[in-house]
Amino acid sequence: MAILYVVATPIGNLEDITLRALETLKSVDLIVCEDTRVTKRLLDRYQINKPVLSYHQHSDLIKIQHIVDQLKNEKNVALVSDAGTPGISDPGNQLVAAAAQAEIKVVPIPGPSAVVSALSVAGVPTDNFIFYGFLPHKKGRQTIIGQIAENKMTSVFYESPHRILKALEQLKDVISDPGRQIIVCRELTKIYEEVVRGTIDEVFEYFNLKPIKGEFVVVVSGR
Ligand code: SAM
Repeated sequence: MAILYVVATPIGNLEDITLRALETLKSVDLIVCEDTRVTKRLLDRYQINKPVLSYHQHSDLIKIQHIVDQLKNEKNVALVSDAGTPGISDPGNQLVAAAAQAEIKVVPIPGPSAVVSALSVAGVPTDNFIFYGFLPHKKGRQTIIGQIAENKMTSVFYESPHRILKALEQLKDVISDPGRQIIVCRELTKIYEEVVRGTIDEVFEYFNLKPIKGEFVVVVSGR
């Protein structure tokens, strides 16, 4: 029976890939990815030459069925995303569900994920945490910001460079306790990697003073 491998790939530094991930990508019949150009860069770096097929959040059921059919025809498939672990704020869950439904074995090949990388350097309790993925842009955003302010356990979320300052400003409005630690992780594993720690006022002031670029994970310590 064929296997669907769910393979984690680097979140920036192309050397952050496991031996098992490379072996798997070399061995499968088909690599299903988000943006074929992004995945090609990784495959070229490791001289892996395999057919790739794009699959994203808006892929229709016909595409999912096509991939499941390949698996039923004894083709091993690797699912990757542009960066990190597929299915974590990334496409993949529907395909995994369809494969599981067809009784196809689904095997994780663990590796990088921005949320876990950020928590690992945050220096705040992580025995329990709440991960919000991306905050909604409009509806429901303020409610979640309020929840984060109230949470007793650590909160963590992804944010785009366009909205990071807004998120910090919104948190500043609801977090009054100066003991709360905010850790903003920018461009992890990349050249401009930066981990900014402080109170909400300190962190907001820091980012308020400069142009904002890159990818961000925000960690907020519990109340
Ligand atoms: N599946 C991925 C994972 O496991 O980390 C997450 C994909 S999600 C579409 C992309 C978001 O993850 C970015 O907008 C950013 O918030 C966060 N992210 C990804 N790479 C990052 C990095 N190198 N440094 C900081 N945040 C990163």
